[in-house]
Amino acid sequence: MSDVTESIFSRIIQRELPADILYEDDVCIVINDIAPQAPVHMLVVPKKPIPRLVDADTDDQILLGHLMLVAGDMARKFGVDEAFRLVVNNGADAGQTFFHLHLHVLAKAKDTAGFSESDITN
Ligand code: AMP
Repeated sequence: MSDVTESIFSRIIQRELPADILYEDDVCIVINDIAPQAPVHMLVVPKKPIPRLVDADTDDQILLGHLMLVAGDMARKFGVDEAFRLVVNNGADAGQTFFHLHLHVLAKAKDTAGFSESDITN
């Protein structure tokens, strides 16, 4: 795990780095992914810097549920709640590059019905 990559989401949360922040509350922020893999590609990032999903424990149960609810709310806000994917990469071999837990919310744009695996590469 790299301290450099681990700190990037924390630095965005602290407003030390710029990002397209779509939503924020006491527990998490939602930002647009800088390199979107789908027309809608947001990241739901907890303020607590849990490195990987497997590093979460029972104390994080409410936090994890909150992230899921925010993901659903954001999908609703973007009009893609009928068809979106939620992805969590856990570990480098699974494609995780930033070791600060985050949920990818991926969807086609609002006006396009449905999507297939080939539309989304993440
Ligand atoms: P993962 O590969 O699951 O760790 O996802 C990391 C994600 O962070 C990738 O989809 C990147 O495109 C995204 N990313 C990297 N830097 C930034 C940034 N500064 N702002 C927003 N998203 C970023």
